[in-house]
Amino acid sequence: MDLDFGPAEEEFRTEVRAWLRAHVPAEPLPSLETADGFAAHREWERTLGADRMVAVSWPREYGGRGVSLLQWLVFEEEYYAAGAPGRVNQNGTDLLATTLFRHGTPEQLARILPPIAAGEVIWAQAWSEPGAGSDLAGLRSTATRTRGGWLLGGQKTWSSRAPFADRAFGLFRSHPEAGRHRGLTYVMFPLDADGLTVRPIGRLDGKPAFAELFLDEVFVPDEDVIGVAGEGWKAAMSTAGNERGLTLRPPGRFMASVDRLVELWRERADPSDTALRDRLADVWIRCQAYRLKGFETISREDDIGVEASLTKVFWSELDVALHETALDLLGTDGELTSPWLEGYVFSLAGTIYAGTNEIQRNLIAERLLGLPRGAR
Ligand SMILES: Cc1cc2nc3c(=O)[nH]c(=O)nc-3n(C[C@H](O)[C@H](O)[C@H](O)COP(=O)(O)OP(=O)(O)OC[C@H]3O[C@@H](n4cnc5c(N)ncnc54)[C@H](O)[C@@H]3O)c2cc1C
Repeated sequence: MDLDFGPAEEEFRTEVRAWLRAHVPAEPLPSLETADGFAAHREWERTLGADRMVAVSWPREYGGRGVSLLQWLVFEEEYYAAGAPGRVNQNGTDLLATTLFRHGTPEQLARILPPIAAGEVIWAQAWSEPGAGSDLAGLRSTATRTRGGWLLGGQKTWSSRAPFADRAFGLFRSHPEAGRHRGLTYVMFPLDADGLTVRPIGRLDGKPAFAELFLDEVFVPDEDVIGVAGEGWKAAMSTAGNERGLTLRPPGRFMASVDRLVELWRERADPSDTALRDRLADVWIRCQAYRLKGFETISREDDIGVEASLTKVFWSELDVALHETALDLLGTDGELTSPWLEGYVFSLAGTIYAGTNEIQRNLIAERLLGLPRGAR
């Protein structure tokens, strides 16, 4: 097995590294979970877009650079290593776009993707409801047929960044007579639509990053339905696969964090603390394993399917372990204020969003290992 990169990847790495060195802001941007921070990140997204750096693996006609997935992984390594700002449009680039590539019409691709690549339209995900999180197929918001489209009604919750985003994509029950998974329609809609109220929900850290959406006869034209009306579950599972798999959490993110952790160890650690040293070695090895697994995944031609659940459990637990190790290394200093503390708090959410780890373990047990279904 040859694990060296070829000239195309090395050349691309050099180009991306130089671009990042010239453009990454000297000071970190404020948190993208606040209005000011969101505006600053929107501007950064435009800077990326101006040089086709938002989604490098997309075809050029949609605003990408048409590079390979391997080069995309290289891009992500460089991006995180450069300490570049968090991406405010991950919902658009990593979830919506990847779903449209599989289920969208050519017209949708041509209309929806270029504004994402240019950093002009920022998306939110509107799936969860007060009674439908893990049991997503239990959702009750409705899409009712009307002339030329659908009228949306009901309530969504935990929609990240919806207070500041432009548009959202979500699932609605359109054919109540069909089975739970069968009567759903997947649509896109503007967050400033008539009949839509966006109510921010404060987080524990005080940032107004989530929103509830209340929908009252919000009109969505037929051209904004993704895939076939009534068969939204299929397209939604392809979004979920991307959210759990590599696209949302590429290995470069963990490689950059673990490199910083090793530096922190060199600066701060008591070398006789072998227990902590062993934990550091453990997370370092897990990061390398995740990186290699990333290369293996993109070398496949097809969707990895339920294996995305393995990836999700792996990266979310790795993220917690990485930050816990950093905080133990920092001692009381780390508990006052440090980027590691913020990262730790957010890492705890990783076992919940993108489908909780309990549910992922059920999927792994039943679909990958063929174990009997647990009691429900
Ligand atoms: C940081 C963050 C960002 C988010 N962003 C978004 C977003 O942008 N858009 C969006 O739509 N949603 C978003 N969510 C919501 C997220 O998808 C849900 O929180 C998640 O799906 C879990 O649903 P729930 O909160 O309703 O918990 P529940 O489904 O009520 O689950 C509660 C607990 O019970 C466990 N459980 C439930 N059923 C089973 C079972 N059958 N077997 C074993 N255990 C079970 C769960 O694992 C969990 O531990 C976000 C959540 C977080 C934390």
